[in-house]
Amino acid sequence: MKVLVAVKRVVDYNVKIRVKSDQTGVETQNVKMSMNPFDEIAVEEGVRLKEAGTADELIAVSIGPSQSQETIRTALAMGADRGILVETDADVEPLGVAKCLKALVDKESPDLVIVGKQAIDDDSSQTGQMLSALLGWSQGTYASKLALDGDTLNVTREVDGGLETVALKMPVIVTADLRLNEPRYASLPNIMKAKKKPIDTTTPDELGVDVAPRLTIVSVTEPPKRDAGVMVEDVAQLVDKLRNEAKVI
Ligand code: AMP
Repeated sequence: MKVLVAVKRVVDYNVKIRVKSDQTGVETQNVKMSMNPFDEIAVEEGVRLKEAGTADELIAVSIGPSQSQETIRTALAMGADRGILVETDADVEPLGVAKCLKALVDKESPDLVIVGKQAIDDDSSQTGQMLSALLGWSQGTYASKLALDGDTLNVTREVDGGLETVALKMPVIVTADLRLNEPRYASLPNIMKAKKKPIDTTTPDELGVDVAPRLTIVSVTEPPKRDAGVMVEDVAQLVDKLRNEAKVI
């Protein structure tokens, strides 16, 4: 089985996000960038399928600027076999990403595509679903467990208040949720080995994909600042403030 995973370069989850002064997006200059956390989970699942002997090849794909190579290298250090960079400096929306991934699926013919459930920079949660629609493949979204049984993939999904298991005929698109697995840290020897693994580079143009934006961002704003709290001396004062200042009781 051949598995393709999508890995996006995003602002590191530990970085405090700053909105650009012109409110067109978030600041990405001089900010630490890393692999989208849900994509680490997607890569880990692919590596586990390889280790179990279920998958024989794992390909990591990223769409973005040349620095996205580093994100692909991280996937290679975790255990992916090779990478494909679709190089562009444009801000590619989920539909553009899904079209690039479709073009690569048509070329590479994987049996399974695993993407993250959402990119933590745009929070769209759309790419996997759009790719499934473009390919006409089944989708198992918000996956917390995968179990392959012949040509059926049983996907346990995180749904409101519980879990749902769906049986999907391969080929399948999976979007990885938080509890699917705990991604490994790449070891130093594996980081060194990853430097020798191949990364092919292509462009949206070469894939015949138009990634021009379809959406206009009207504005991006920071959440309202919270007022500082006050210490009250006793319960009586608290009740008094709640009744007479906040007027909530
Ligand atoms: P989104 O629909 O933007 O929330 O992204 C969902 C998932 O699609 C991500 O977790 C990635 O696995 C994949 N994805 C989105 N954008 C890209 C990109 N530029 N390059 C590679 N994968 C991406």
